[in-house]
Amino acid sequence: MGNSERWLIEVTGTVQGVGFRPFVYRTAHELGLAGLVRNTPEGVTIEAQGTPERLYQFVEKLNSDHPPLAQIQCLDHSPISIQPGIAFTIVESHQGDGNLTPAISPDIATCDDCLRELISEEDRRHSYAFTNCTNCGPRYTIIEGFPYDRSKTSMKDFIMCQACRSEYDNPSDRRFHAQPNACPSCGPQLNIPIDEALACIAQGNIVAIKGLGGFHLACDATNDEAVKRLRRRKRRDMKPFAIMVRDLDAAVEICHISDEEAHLLTSPQRPIVLLKKRDNIPIAESVAPDNKCLGVMLPYTPLHHLFFGRSPLFLVMTSANFSEEPIISDNNEATSRLADVADTFLYHNRPIHMRTDDSVIRPVGRHNILMRRARGYVPSPVPLPFKGPNVLALGGDIKNAICITNGSNAYLSQHIGDLANIETHSHFEDVIEHLCNLLKVEPEVIACDMHRDYYSTQYANRRISEQLYSIQHHHAHIASCMAENGLANQKVIGIALDGAGYGPDGTIWGGEILRADYEDFERLARIKPVMQPGGDLAAREPWRMAVAYLRELSAKTILNDIPENEIDLVEQAMEKDINCPLTSSLGRLFDAVAAILGIATHNAFEGHAAMLLEQVADDKNNSLYSWRVGAGSSSTAPLDQRRRPRADLLFINIDFQPTIQEIVQDSIGSVKISNISAKFHNTVVAAFAEVVKMIGGDEPVCLSGGCMQNAWLLLGLTKSLEAQGRTVYTHDLVPPNDGGLALGQAAIAIWRNR
Ligand code: ZN
Ligand code: ZN
Ligand code: FE
Repeated sequence: MGNSERWLIEVTGTVQGVGFRPFVYRTAHELGLAGLVRNTPEGVTIEAQGTPERLYQFVEKLNSDHPPLAQIQCLDHSPISIQPGIAFTIVESHQGDGNLTPAISPDIATCDDCLRELISEEDRRHSYAFTNCTNCGPRYTIIEGFPYDRSKTSMKDFIMCQACRSEYDNPSDRRFHAQPNACPSCGPQLNIPIDEALACIAQGNIVAIKGLGGFHLACDATNDEAVKRLRRRKRRDMKPFAIMVRDLDAAVEICHISDEEAHLLTSPQRPIVLLKKRDNIPIAESVAPDNKCLGVMLPYTPLHHLFFGRSPLFLVMTSANFSEEPIISDNNEATSRLADVADTFLYHNRPIHMRTDDSVIRPVGRHNILMRRARGYVPSPVPLPFKGPNVLALGGDIKNAICITNGSNAYLSQHIGDLANIETHSHFEDVIEHLCNLLKVEPEVIACDMHRDYYSTQYANRRISEQLYSIQHHHAHIASCMAENGLANQKVIGIALDGAGYGPDGTIWGGEILRADYEDFERLARIKPVMQPGGDLAAREPWRMAVAYLRELSAKTILNDIPENEIDLVEQAMEKDINCPLTSSLGRLFDAVAAILGIATHNAFEGHAAMLLEQVADDKNNSLYSWRVGAGSSSTAPLDQRRRPRADLLFINIDFQPTIQEIVQDSIGSVKISNISAKFHNTVVAAFAEVVKMIGGDEPVCLSGGCMQNAWLLLGLTKSLEAQGRTVYTHDLVPPNDGGLALGQAAIAIWRNR
């Protein structure tokens, strides 16, 4: 070995907890290299010794053949002095080794190797519903604490058998240090045979099935009776159910699927993907009533694969919960609370430590709109382009998710739910405690929304040992988009189009153009405020917003689905200004238009009316309605005591009253709803793009807020603003809705704390 060299190879990226070290070990052995590999705070360090030729091969293989879940950011090598010894070893990291980055992977769909074992009659894991390896299986949902080893997971009570143990101990095995490793003789077991559950479904009944992050309620998606029964029992009228289908071919049978969409469906994260329905499909209409899309996912646990292996079903797979409560994850909780919902229970004795819903993605052109970020994505960090104190950001009360920062990483939690429900409160506190514990973070700074009535804000006020920052809702939305895109502290134009957020002037904001950086913002433009009769009630009853927008037009008779006396009551309330806060929300404007067109007078779920309005729009129509811009002002309270007081600010009012007037005329004149909706969407895009042009400057534009789930607005604004020469940033990793709020709050808190 006269011409041997020893190289120090440093690898950064996602290389811990993803089977990277065993892969390095195997590869070194194959090439006859000596040396070692160990985890470091930044990633993995390798010392490899052998001929230069072999070393080059080694580096090449590290780059090209690494495990599917590993992501190499940077791989550098430099020569160091030769050492005696011919073995290659994995050096264990010790708990006390300073600040090792806790590397906790999200839950990952069953890999191809495990799938092969699952169906192979010779394999000892044949038909075993809990097969997993270092490349797949449960992670975040079973981890109880740090460091990540079996004793700190919900697998701790399962003692590995000889065969499993030797896999676990063998660095060249696919199951080396796979913490949830198990087999039929030593691991978790199902309570009933799968065939029993399948028979139940075939009879049109409902089965509660325990998954990775919680229970699903399943029934035959082609059986309208069964689906309707599930709706009745779950007390859910209209909100679409997700379905799970056997494989990609089955998905193609029922939906139009692009290459990118197929890629998403089959990705290790296995989200629910919103896809366009084909015509005349066997799926019951009641799965997604009045909806042109279907939420589809593929099997992601061995149990799912066993289910679909035996029967070609399309299954409804909806989270087992009531309204916006957290998903049910405990066996006892399931059998008691779902006693009147499910006919049969299929569960197992591997506890779920952290309940986590399925993620939901809407692919739109080159964008992926993450509508719900949970299983498969959490707890992957969002890298920030700056460092700061450890922040706990609490998000908002709707679609709550919290965020914890550690150095330059921001960890956004899974979707927690709506904090208006008391049932969600303990889950919210559990997630905070769990994530702090996993990340070994003690928050120094707390960030919350400015809305004093939010539960999350009240929780923040109860924590007295940390510095607290209250952050304006739409500033947080824009900062979330900035942070996700890795922007440094710079001025951007933020377009925040949203349902509702507390404004410092005491009105409800939600159709805003801000000039913002992480530290502060100024309001440059807004939708001209109208009254929101009934306050929060108006968000559930779009017809109220229609009455408000129709007030100047005396055209209330167009709302012929609403009893006249109810309309009169709302008008009187506006007259006397009783519970009629002012709002500049775009979400409420969408509600008003949907109600005027008779598409939806009531929201069965958040964003329902707006979703229906978008779906009816004819995408070949590119005409516009009129709108006006004018100057507006309001006295704005100082952001907080330290900051300069802001007295009367002048900004641009975007007035859609002319739009409403023309919509009413078109509606009376029997113009097709598809054209009216398209024109309305075009008008909103054109108005906001025009105002950005009026504002001038060359700052990049960030698009955020719940309305950015609307494909028409997202694509239209991106295109118009890019045509003006603007750089446009949107969300791809983090929800544009309030599920992404906490990331922006955290980034702002870091900067304000400087
Ligand atoms: Zn596997
Ligand atoms: Zn075993
Ligand atoms: Fe919002």
